[in-house]
Amino acid sequence: MQPKSNIVHLPVYQPGKPIEEVKRELGLTEVIKLASNENPFGCSPKAKEAIKAEVESTSLYPDGGAVELTAALAASLGVQPNQIIFGAGSDEVILMIARAYLVKGDETVMASHTFPQYKHNCEIEGAVSVEVPLKDGKHDLPAMLAKINERTKIVWVCNPNNPTGTMVTRAELNDFLRQVPPHVLVVLDEAYIEYTDSADFPDGIELLPQYKNVITLRTFSKIYGLASLRIGYGVGHPDVIHSINQVREPFNTSRFAQAAAKAALQDGEFIAYCREQNAKGIAYLTGEFDRLGLSYYPAHGNFIMVDVKRPAKEVFEGLLRKGLIVRGGHALDFPTKIRVTVGSAEQNAKFVEALERVLDEVAVQA
Ligand SMILES: *Cc1c(COP(=O)(O)O)cnc(C)c1O
Repeated sequence: MQPKSNIVHLPVYQPGKPIEEVKRELGLTEVIKLASNENPFGCSPKAKEAIKAEVESTSLYPDGGAVELTAALAASLGVQPNQIIFGAGSDEVILMIARAYLVKGDETVMASHTFPQYKHNCEIEGAVSVEVPLKDGKHDLPAMLAKINERTKIVWVCNPNNPTGTMVTRAELNDFLRQVPPHVLVVLDEAYIEYTDSADFPDGIELLPQYKNVITLRTFSKIYGLASLRIGYGVGHPDVIHSINQVREPFNTSRFAQAAAKAALQDGEFIAYCREQNAKGIAYLTGEFDRLGLSYYPAHGNFIMVDVKRPAKEVFEGLLRKGLIVRGGHALDFPTKIRVTVGSAEQNAKFVEALERVLDEVAVQA
């Protein structure tokens, strides 16, 4: 048996260590995971109720078209239902976009350090990923524009960018979109948009009437706290959504996910609380980093990439021994940086205390 040649080099996704395993291996009773940008406040109680109410229908297939959820979301975003597609996480929407648009030899353009699923899915389709270096941790949109040619099918813009947390502004994005040729699909991944509080942050939905070649991706995994249920979505022109729908599996989102997402949309109070706590957390953490003399990228999501000026792997392992799981930059091609999710106030304080001890233990990288 011979798998297709363009996948043989692909690594199998390595998830972060589960909390239980870290506890067992290191003999710890308390472990705090600030590694996957999960919501430290869980999810809305309304979503939990909706999941319970759905249990009696477990044996029945879900509504493949997610009609009720689509209607609720369309109303809340001010778009038409035929502009929305749901996936098993926005991860699956990324997969479906690659599947619908890319054939061998196509090119796609993305930042050099961004969400890995873009490149992963492009490679599976045999497309070439042209990676453009970040500038100060930010997408370099003019340089990305310069890489577009007649073979380019998709440009990926992650805003705020994971893992750096930086954003491109409305003016920068508009300037870029005005110059992108209409045959190129621009995927605007806005997984953290509900956390952003900058007046200059562009809202992808507002760009849709002007740009038929833009699709914006959002998720219920982050601020909505429904990561385990796997539900995210894309919003774009009806023709784009139709093409993606043609490659969608019949029942790609579960009953539980649809019901919880619909209920979660109705709990604006929970979202406002999480956004406010996150802003306080960023202010606290960046204040502490300043005190410790550490620099960091401007954080516009629910995570911060900070330069610990020491080998990331050693700092990561030192934190792990103290019961804190973060993302080490050694795995992300940032050798002296770590990415930490903003936790609850208590988790943030424990992280800073542990970090200070680790900084004393690990020698500064010359
Ligand atoms: C977390 C994340 C996603 C998708 O998460 P799903 O759980 O698949 O919805 C997509 N893009 C970025 C940048 C993310 O950080």
